[in-house]
Amino acid sequence: MRKLIIAANWKMNMGPQEAADFIDSFSQKVADAKGVDIVLSPPMVSLAAASSKLAGSSIGLSAQNVSENDNGAFTGETSTLMLKELFVQYVIIGHSERRSIYGETDAIINAKIKKARAANLKPIFCIGETLEQREGGQLEAVLRTQITDGLVGVSVEDLAETVIAYEPVWAIGTGVTASAQQAQDAHAFCRSVIAELYGQEAADKIRIQYGGSVKPANSAELLGQEDIDGALVGGASLDPQIFADLIHNALT
Ligand code: PEP
Repeated sequence: MRKLIIAANWKMNMGPQEAADFIDSFSQKVADAKGVDIVLSPPMVSLAAASSKLAGSSIGLSAQNVSENDNGAFTGETSTLMLKELFVQYVIIGHSERRSIYGETDAIINAKIKKARAANLKPIFCIGETLEQREGGQLEAVLRTQITDGLVGVSVEDLAETVIAYEPVWAIGTGVTASAQQAQDAHAFCRSVIAELYGQEAADKIRIQYGGSVKPANSAELLGQEDIDGALVGGASLDPQIFADLIHNALT
């Protein structure tokens, strides 16, 4: 019922030339992949090159961040309209690296989600607990707060255009993956929070990706779980063959 969505997060990797070369190779490798939305998220400086390469392609384009402001004196920032001009469709918001390194709060993330939706960009809204929080029994409280505060004032219509990415912080870039059961349990909990906030129909429709050391060897098991509707992939998305294998395995 929910279409899978597998997104690459290239983080601060892949300049314009590398991004273009990746797309040339990768597009051919996934030309046969049906029933899945595939999305690439290059760094800002590579979006233009990626956008030209992806013109007419079914592969979607995402930014990794966006400003919560429209324009003006915000050195180093990028607005939603600038992204739209490059035919960007998605934007990752609230990645744990943005939260922990750049101090993004739930309130800032909420403002970014609303700004993205006002420009008809689809947010990939990231949430997830640290190991300390999980071991301290705070998993559900942390996820509930991140979801509730991140979505303040977001309409049910805008929620339908939003993807949630559950990414346990302890599994990002560490090689440690949540077990399929741990991931499924967290996804089911996130969906129950969405049901409380927006009703069961909205909860049944929203796509929730898992992120955290997803690779070709574990994508089938993770994405085979009932409440896991895709993946947000860092390290394993940097090589066109590995990322294509990860996608193909998830579809089997
Ligand atoms: C990420 O950065 O969103 C991520 C999940 O990274 P990795 O796949 O490398 O753990």
